[in-house]
Amino acid sequence: MHNDISKIIFSEQDLANRVAEMGEAITRDYAEVPGGVVVISILRGGAVFTCDLIRRINLPLEMDFMAVSSYGNGVKSSGVVRILKDLNTDIRGRHVIIAEDIIDSGFTLQYLMKNLLSREPASLTVAALMRKDTPNQADIDCRYVGFECPDEFIVGYGLDYAEHYRNLPYIGVLKPEIYQ
Ligand code: 5GP
Ligand code: MG
Ligand code: MG
Repeated sequence: MHNDISKIIFSEQDLANRVAEMGEAITRDYAEVPGGVVVISILRGGAVFTCDLIRRINLPLEMDFMAVSSYGNGVKSSGVVRILKDLNTDIRGRHVIIAEDIIDSGFTLQYLMKNLLSREPASLTVAALMRKDTPNQADIDCRYVGFECPDEFIVGYGLDYAEHYRNLPYIGVLKPEIYQ
């Protein structure tokens, strides 16, 4: 285990198993839709999850990316979201799935869903690898949730602290002395 991690909460095997189940559920739920699905990966934290997830979805599938940022560089979201990179795909009339790493305050997804719905997709759902047990979380209709997780700052499997740790193959709690 990396020296800056105090404990592993989801191992490489836990992640592989759960992501496979999520992919199977999506495959079943969208089996009948015409035109397949568009999976939108939310950079950068959602990228590792998305790449594993799409390989577990057995449907016609397109992948696109959006990058968003909430102002500020701390460990909490500010609530103000801006788009740093928009889609290349026209999603009007398409079945769209947002693939996000983690729901914390819920502000990022609240903003994204409103923004994407205004483009009139045929449907819009969310697949989040994790949902944090955060007080006053925005009410997000998330159809696919991989894991519920404690309100601690976690890294690995795409999630960073100051751009580090994204390459850890597991998800772990960062020692508080690293960011305090
Ligand atoms: P929200 O807008 O729901 O508060 O947070 C969304 C984004 O904040 C997530 O997509 C993720 O990038 C980041 N985030 C929230 N909680 C954590 C965490 O525990 N660790 C890391 N590395 N990022 C987090
Ligand atoms: Mg994210
Ligand atoms: Mg980050």
